[in-house]
Amino acid sequence: MVKEPEEVFVISYPDDRTQVRIEDWSSVSLQTNAGDSAIFTYGNTHSLVQKSKQILKTGSVSLLKIVTNNGEIREYKGPLSISKPETFAHSIKWLGDIFIRLLNMIAIPLVISTLIVGVSSLGDIKKFTKVGGRTIIFYLSTTALAITIGLVLANLIKPGEQLNSAVRDQLIAEYSADAAEKVVVQPSTNFINDFLIPLIPRNIFSALTSGDMLQIVFFAVFVGMVLNIVSREKGEPVIKFFDGLSDIMIVMVDLVMKIAPLAVFALIMYTVADLGYQILYILFWYAATVLIGLLIQTFGVYSLILKFFSKVKLLHFFKGIREAQTIALTTSSSAATLPVTMQCAEENLGISKSITGFVLPLGATVNMDGTALYQGVAAVFIAQVFGMDLTITQQLSIVLMATLASIGTAPVPGVGILMLVVILKSVHIPEIGIALILGIDRLLDMCRTVTNVTGDLTVACAVATYQNEINVTESENPNSKEV
Ligand code: ASP
Repeated sequence: MVKEPEEVFVISYPDDRTQVRIEDWSSVSLQTNAGDSAIFTYGNTHSLVQKSKQILKTGSVSLLKIVTNNGEIREYKGPLSISKPETFAHSIKWLGDIFIRLLNMIAIPLVISTLIVGVSSLGDIKKFTKVGGRTIIFYLSTTALAITIGLVLANLIKPGEQLNSAVRDQLIAEYSADAAEKVVVQPSTNFINDFLIPLIPRNIFSALTSGDMLQIVFFAVFVGMVLNIVSREKGEPVIKFFDGLSDIMIVMVDLVMKIAPLAVFALIMYTVADLGYQILYILFWYAATVLIGLLIQTFGVYSLILKFFSKVKLLHFFKGIREAQTIALTTSSSAATLPVTMQCAEENLGISKSITGFVLPLGATVNMDGTALYQGVAAVFIAQVFGMDLTITQQLSIVLMATLASIGTAPVPGVGILMLVVILKSVHIPEIGIALILGIDRLLDMCRTVTNVTGDLTVACAVATYQNEINVTESENPNSKEV
């Protein structure tokens, strides 16, 4: 019988580079040099590999006892590591990695240049406050709506009640080391000390090198505003420089996008090969609740906003942003997707540069509707698994905390789960509960990033419509001039 790839694993010895391929096993017990042990059953290779990776961070696997399908017992003495066998998907992953690096490389110069030009082209402070105010209101309300959808669905579907206590204990045992690592780096929640003050970079160059988006946004908005105060003679060369830089970045995006089909293929292949399907099965109801919520937000809520607050036709919108959604799905990063998001907004939706330049970099940094929705579901799910009943006040506090947390969430893969720790803490749900959902976070991260990016583009359409900075006819009918 041919085994599914996820049922096969490889034992490697660091010193002599020997590898043993294990195919017909029914259970594996693992012991670490620290004296811990864990048992994995057939088909649970993903957890086994994850556990080995976790152990390798601090110690080593000292003994592996394998019971084969015909009852034979084999022992392998450590130190050793356990991995999945190399497949075609692993061999082409580098293509996807290069693509993500290229997009990340472009993102920061693009954000800083487009924001400076975007804010300076808004003209006066009054217009800036108007656009800024509308953008923030849209961002905050869509986020609050997203968490509410997440909470309502989690209360209706009750995914936590579908998980029995044996599976809960198994998940906590397998992922607790990883979870503990995330709980340690938890940010705290004091608005002034932890959000307002750190917003201001001490040194803009270190903000640029560490990629601190919020600080970069703050600096760029400030420079853009001041460019309207200094004399024309002084301001113009600076604006021209950043305008040129942003054009260069956009052309770079065009060029990088030429490898997008191949890179997207490589990234999807790798994800499919690497995903633990067992965990998908175990956490089916939790994943389904998050996905239903994301679908409602992405295609329901945003459609309504577009219908009532913008001139853009729905079909035209979703057709125009396909590329950004695909890149968001495959990179799991709003920041890496930002160059493509901006390109879609300008070229396909006809939004002016001054709106995209301000609304989209800000959105990629602070507007995370998908992340907030997922945090709402995750909090209720974990509470349900631990048999806790959340009161209305606690759920309202989740709405508030998740709205704030989504602002502070960096637009890179997997950060949403770190901010979840803050939310859990605020309503006294055991933080170790994130161990329950870690195994499936990668898949959900991909999907919530699509919602995050779609949300930014929706708000860009609405704000552009208010400001009359959107050329609907031309963008909907690119050949109109030739007719
Ligand atoms: N990956 C998400 C983003 O970049 C953030 C998160 O939810 O982890 O938009």
